[in-house]
Amino acid sequence: MELNLLAFAIIGFLLFMGVEYLLARKTGKNYFQFAESVANINVGIAERLLDVFTTGIFYFFFAYIHEHFALFDIKPHWATWVALLLFTDFIWYWYHRLAHEVNILWAAHVVHHQSEDFNYTVSARITVFQAVIRSLFWAVLPFIGFPPAMITSLLLVHGLYPFFIHTQTIGKLGILEYFMVTPSHHRVHHSSNEVYLDKNYGDVFIIWDKLFGTFVKEKEDVKCVFGLTTPLKSYSFLWQQFHFALELFTAFRRAKGFRAKWKVVFGKPDDIDGNIRPELEQKWLFAPAKAKNTKFQRVYIIAQTTLSLVLLFFTVLFEKAIPHGLAALSVLFILLSLVNTGAILEQRKWIFYLEYTRMLVILAALIFYFPHLYAVGTVVFAILLVTLYFRTLQQRFDRILYQRVNR
Ligand SMILES: [Zn+2]
Ligand SMILES: [Zn+2]
Repeated sequence: MELNLLAFAIIGFLLFMGVEYLLARKTGKNYFQFAESVANINVGIAERLLDVFTTGIFYFFFAYIHEHFALFDIKPHWATWVALLLFTDFIWYWYHRLAHEVNILWAAHVVHHQSEDFNYTVSARITVFQAVIRSLFWAVLPFIGFPPAMITSLLLVHGLYPFFIHTQTIGKLGILEYFMVTPSHHRVHHSSNEVYLDKNYGDVFIIWDKLFGTFVKEKEDVKCVFGLTTPLKSYSFLWQQFHFALELFTAFRRAKGFRAKWKVVFGKPDDIDGNIRPELEQKWLFAPAKAKNTKFQRVYIIAQTTLSLVLLFFTVLFEKAIPHGLAALSVLFILLSLVNTGAILEQRKWIFYLEYTRMLVILAALIFYFPHLYAVGTVVFAILLVTLYFRTLQQRFDRILYQRVNR
């Protein structure tokens, strides 16, 4: 059976997060907030999951460009590998810079910057939209003439590197600070302090920032304040992913004339009316969540996130072996769990409907792929019971989860 060993990278990432967490605790530094970490990991789970489907597509896309439009016929050689690394890093710089300067691209990249923490979990904040936009920029590489196999191998390493720069546990790195992107440089990139804003876009080498005037050193006397200039204050999975797209859509509708509309799509994020977000928050987020998470919620959230991670691991590992339908059900189950976890962090009331839907997904998976009489019977019985006593059970569930009676 052909396994996708990239699944083990997920375990590697989690190990690093764990070590960093223990280290931070030992030194008494509070780098991790529970809700932030869960939200960060959840964004990452969705990306890893959907990436399984997009990676293959992009390989064919690169191969197509290489076959039909390649300018040069480049063969693997140490010199061409070095050239590829430099080209890739150069394209990254511009992809990343434009992702901050052009609204339509910022709509996807904003998710990477929402966390007010800065630790390894933040590196997981990549969405599938970001991944797709980035891959479109990479299309320059096969066009120059780099073979797709070379590109995908290099992108693997190039994609791994930024994980390690999302940490506060590492200070300055001596001579490396001159030409590599270090944790210190990337801390600056994630900060919303005036002096640090829109700086240090590099991925592996910091030389491009120095060359194009976007480099700033981390200063001793300016402590990094992480996150967006206007913090999001919401852990809703869907809101985090789509709030800026909605803001753009609203601004686009209100803009009068072609020029104004064009400016909304391709202009700078700063020019979008700051009053739109509060308006949309009122409309879509209802009352802001105030209550703190109870111990039971934390246990429930940790259990769910663990389950999503385990499911993700096996879905990626057996990517080539499992039937498409089962993979789709697994994806659906995980996505529902992510929305669910975010909603619990936000103290939302409609969780029970999601729980019900998840049960139906489990039932479908059992019927189609593991038709064992007792297993199917048990789930059918459970669903029947829940359907019959829906209202009562929902109230019970809310009461246990939120430790109060609200209805
Ligand atoms: Zn960025
Ligand atoms: Zn980052």
